[in-house]
Amino acid sequence: MILNVDDYVPGLYARTKILRQAGFTVIEAATGKDALDLVASEKPSMVLLDVNLPDMSGYEVCRRIRATPEISATTIVHVSATAVQNQHLVHGLDTGADSYLVEPIDAAVLVATVKAFLRAREAEEALRRSNEDLGRFAYMVSHELNEPLRTITVHAQLLSRQLAEQLDATTGESLRFMIDGADRMRTFIDDLLRYSQATHVGRDIREVSLDALLHQTMWNLDAAISESGARITHDPLPTVVADTRIEHVLRNLFSNSIKYRRPEAAPEIHVSAAPLKEGGWVISVRDNGIGIDPLYQGSVFQIFRRLHGRDIPGTGIGLALSQRIVAAHGGRMWVESEPGVGSTFYFSIPQEQTSVSASNTN
Ligand code: ADP
Repeated sequence: MILNVDDYVPGLYARTKILRQAGFTVIEAATGKDALDLVASEKPSMVLLDVNLPDMSGYEVCRRIRATPEISATTIVHVSATAVQNQHLVHGLDTGADSYLVEPIDAAVLVATVKAFLRAREAEEALRRSNEDLGRFAYMVSHELNEPLRTITVHAQLLSRQLAEQLDATTGESLRFMIDGADRMRTFIDDLLRYSQATHVGRDIREVSLDALLHQTMWNLDAAISESGARITHDPLPTVVADTRIEHVLRNLFSNSIKYRRPEAAPEIHVSAAPLKEGGWVISVRDNGIGIDPLYQGSVFQIFRRLHGRDIPGTGIGLALSQRIVAAHGGRMWVESEPGVGSTFYFSIPQEQTSVSASNTN
């Protein structure tokens, strides 16, 4: 269904007629308010939106559609009745429109444009559905595997306790392998579960003091930190509005900096925060570890991608999960690294409502 919006009746009539003749279902509106109401109630695939409407500009209608999650993916093509200047066209596209058509519009061009956008939209929809299916599949599989795995661990532990005295060395070792294997599998399943659920920011959004979160993370990783002799320092860190899962991101980055350390140097980890021009922060975690070859720096964020040996435990999910969590906050994650010198991982949390806390540990 296409929504055709124009207060100039002959223009509205002509476009509707062309599109109906081409087999499309068309509904009409003559004001910005009516257009917004119809987009919300009818959910058309596409809106042909006149730029000059009596109650508000087409740009404003477009901005409001983009700001409403349930309809934000609607395809919007601006239509301008006048000879359009480049800056208007750029403004229209910059404020969220997908394309811009200028009157007089040739009938064949109009129909071909609408068809092209509907094709792209169908492909996008199919991709979204397939992603949702995959997410559900990963969730179900990991959820279902948890229970039998717990049974295996519990009974293997029981056996090794009950038979402690009678077990010969080889059987005892076999039982330990079983328990270790089941533990590794549980870590993998937990990571996979978190990954499959991380596409959206959860309901648990709140003011999070990154300073407090950093100390909590250090506390959670206490054993690994003391065993490796790691030193973690930080600049003043802000309080951000975020999902508490941002803790996974910090935990993963710290634990990687410790895991992928150079054998000859204790891990030195430093956390900084820099404000973003448009509001929000870029957080960086720098280490002095083995580093990452420039060739592979992009691919470490792919799920199951592991660059270093099997002897270092890991699932290859941590960075992919972290990137998903950051993306769900509208942010980006990237790395700069020099092999043999160290890596700096960055992630952004874009928002306006943040404030700098006073603490500093250095
Ligand atoms: P995992 O650590 O479980 O393998 P991640 O997704 O956290 O999975 O990391 C993917 C890969 O990126 C790691 O296997 C490692 O090769 C590389 N990597 C991650 N962090 C660092 C780091 N701080 N220094 C060097 N290499 C790293």
